[in-house]
Amino acid sequence: MEITETKICKKCSEKLPLTKEYFAFSKGYWIGKCRKCQRKYIKAYHLANPEIIARHRETRRKKKAEINRIKKANRIPKPKRIYVPKPKKPKKIKTPEEIEARRLQKNKIAKKWRKNNPEKERLRRKKWRKNNPEKIRLKKKKWREDYPEKAKAKSRRKQQKQRNNVTDVYVKCLIKASTGLKRDEIPKEMIETKRLILKLKRELKTM
Ligand SMILES: [Zn+2]
Repeated sequence: MEITETKICKKCSEKLPLTKEYFAFSKGYWIGKCRKCQRKYIKAYHLANPEIIARHRETRRKKKAEINRIKKANRIPKPKRIYVPKPKKPKKIKTPEEIEARRLQKNKIAKKWRKNNPEKERLRRKKWRKNNPEKIRLKKKKWREDYPEKAKAKSRRKQQKQRNNVTDVYVKCLIKASTGLKRDEIPKEMIETKRLILKLKRELKTM
């Protein structure tokens, strides 16, 4: 068995191995109290002397600040790094197939994003519509030119719907035809009265 030197703690009188695990070693001497007792003593001292501890702390803080100040004053500034831009790689010329493949890939990513962010997508579309009324108008115009039959049918459906619901647009149209008034000249009461008459006439027809 290995023989270890031991030491008796002057506080708790316990016989402990004379190693740094059990005793503190300071300025060439072993401290008399074991680490456990030392810790207890320090803790008690702190509790009993808060002013002294605060003073010590303040002194240390000031000392440190002073050292830092001197360090800072004597520091040799590092030479500033000069930014050298990396030479740009020459752009690779893409084949039409590569461009098309990239386009499809981008579309796929965008589609996935739209699927995962329906609410954001809805707002994005709304904003776009608000900012691009002219584009929408041209798109609609193009569609009407490309599909005249569909456009006619759509227009008829819309008119039918307006007629069925006796909307302002529909009523104004009738008033305009019979009186020659312009759309924005027709007073609100006139529209309401005309609507009422139309509704009554329709009801009479069904009787
Ligand atoms: Zn002890």
